[in-house]
Amino acid sequence: MNIISSILSPDALDDSGGMAVANPATGEELARVRTYTAQEVDGMIHAAEAARRDWAAETAKFRADKLRDWFNLIIAHREQLAEICTLECGKPLAEARAELDYAASFVEWFAEEARRAYGETIPSFAAGKEILVRKEPVGTCAAITPWNFPLAMITRKSAPALAAGCAMVMKPSEATPLSALALEALAVKAGIPAAILRIVPSADPAETGRLFCTHPVIRKISFTGSTAVGKLLLEQAGSTVKKACMELGGNAPFIVFEDADIDAAVEGAMIAKFRNAGQACIGANRLLVQQGVHDRFVGALAERAAALKVGNGMDPESQIGPLINDRALEKVERLTDAALGDGATRVCGGGRHNAGAQFYTPTVLTGVRQDMAIAQQEIFGPVASIIPFADEAEAIRIANDTRSGLASYCYTGDLGRAWRVMGALEYGMVAINEGLLGTEVAPFGGIKESGIGREGSRHGMDEYLELKYVLMGGLRG
Ligand code: NAD
Repeated sequence: MNIISSILSPDALDDSGGMAVANPATGEELARVRTYTAQEVDGMIHAAEAARRDWAAETAKFRADKLRDWFNLIIAHREQLAEICTLECGKPLAEARAELDYAASFVEWFAEEARRAYGETIPSFAAGKEILVRKEPVGTCAAITPWNFPLAMITRKSAPALAAGCAMVMKPSEATPLSALALEALAVKAGIPAAILRIVPSADPAETGRLFCTHPVIRKISFTGSTAVGKLLLEQAGSTVKKACMELGGNAPFIVFEDADIDAAVEGAMIAKFRNAGQACIGANRLLVQQGVHDRFVGALAERAAALKVGNGMDPESQIGPLINDRALEKVERLTDAALGDGATRVCGGGRHNAGAQFYTPTVLTGVRQDMAIAQQEIFGPVASIIPFADEAEAIRIANDTRSGLASYCYTGDLGRAWRVMGALEYGMVAINEGLLGTEVAPFGGIKESGIGREGSRHGMDEYLELKYVLMGGLRG
């Protein structure tokens, strides 16, 4: 029995006809998963709706205990889950372990938050009347997740939903359904009713997405993925006035001022840019570096980037894995070549890597301008684009010159500047002198075209709760 069939339910696999899942590092087929027709998914949505009232009627402690049991099982299977994640999405095993811990942290956090969904009372406007506000579960929810964090995107959405008393039907990316199915199997083992959390791989994402968004039973759609698909889903969800949580693409600026600790900035940039081979929505897409420290920063970053070990994520030495597919590789290549043709300069890298068909060499480009495609679009690859700037006002202007507003980073040793720049950045998240900001305790999410809603933190729980205003009259004796 291999690692995949040791965790997944046998029903989730279909060796004869299912959807093939390949290892992006080697092209080798890992498994074939069962997919579901629209009619079958419709049945699961109705089953979820039928089961969710009993789930919501249980005490918050009951749901918390189930989530806690799920968390313990996830941790107990840490190595297997990390390995499955690396096999299907390519990231180095050390990063997959870190993602697993991040994924588990949402289950633990929302197990705790389940018991704190407090309502409120409001001083009344009249004698003999009382006002209270209850928090009630939204209902049956649907979610669609991407391939770049195949474990964490499942738990970041499902754990708050389940904690709140909702049911959840989820479609993982067709590139990475195995991590999601492994988590589902462990949820069932933890005693979470199968109908309350369903993972439904689909070979036709557009059809499943349309079904989720137009289905009258589904009360909320939660999506993480590209802005283009998010816009389409929002449009479709309008037909049934669903609540929506959209975690979409970013175009993060990473600003380095002359007064910064440059070694720390280089360290932060290595994480913010090269984690998951640059395939992260909060990845540093534009490195804005002040002229006085430009050459020093670029020299140090290029030295570190050129030393990164590129290879199969299962090799413990690997630091940069493959890109997810040919399309992703071609996009990175196209944006880099266009930038070079437009006057950018290659400091290191700049082409495919011989580790395999889907590998790209860590690259540093200088002389990038904000009007280049590489600065306007998400690169989603291991290419650091450096844009020089003269002063604070110019850095802020360039940083905000995008329709995205997810994550942003700023390195400075000046407290006043840190505060000013933080306030001026039009982003849902700002990291000052830090290159990594994901944590279950803080609200993750974007503004502008990067999305709607927040995940993680106590605010992540509110996304799955409705407010019910109750006016009690006739109380005068
Ligand atoms: P994608 O939008 O192509 O796919 C995401 C999901 O949407 C997948 O499950 C896919 O099957 C599904 N999908 C594709 N077309 C669809 C359609 N027509 N209808 C319904 N569903 C459809 O994005 P991707 O390439 O998988 O992921 C990369 C993108 O996700 C990047 O833009 C990245 O910034 C974004 N992302 C955002 C966050 C965040 O939290 N904001 C986190 C991770 C990734």
